[in-house]
Amino acid sequence: MLRQGADIELGNGMSNDDTSTGAERATNTAYMRRWRSDEVNRVRERARRAAAYRERKSRAVRKNHENSPAEPIGRICAICRTRPSIGQVFRLRLCNSSSSGFEEVLIPYCGKC
Ligand SMILES: [Zn+2]
Repeated sequence: MLRQGADIELGNGMSNDDTSTGAERATNTAYMRRWRSDEVNRVRERARRAAAYRERKSRAVRKNHENSPAEPIGRICAICRTRPSIGQVFRLRLCNSSSSGFEEVLIPYCGKC
């Protein structure tokens, strides 16, 4: 049901890209318009995108946090990790214990990025 348009295209050996005909595109557009008009689909998609965004963000924060002990703190910009730092700036970090979900941290900053 959800992949109806794609199944038709796969049967022709064609993918959903520039090789799609105008009629196929019109069918796909009409299908997506119907799909988006359903409130349940819109809410589910919004929640899925928000969860994916949180996951990407927290993964990036974890990665930065894991890398930081290996580097001398305060000498290299914590954002670009290439230029020397000239000062410190406040940034927000994800934090489960805070009511807002974020905490302020001071990080070294090069002043350019
Ligand atoms: Zn920088």
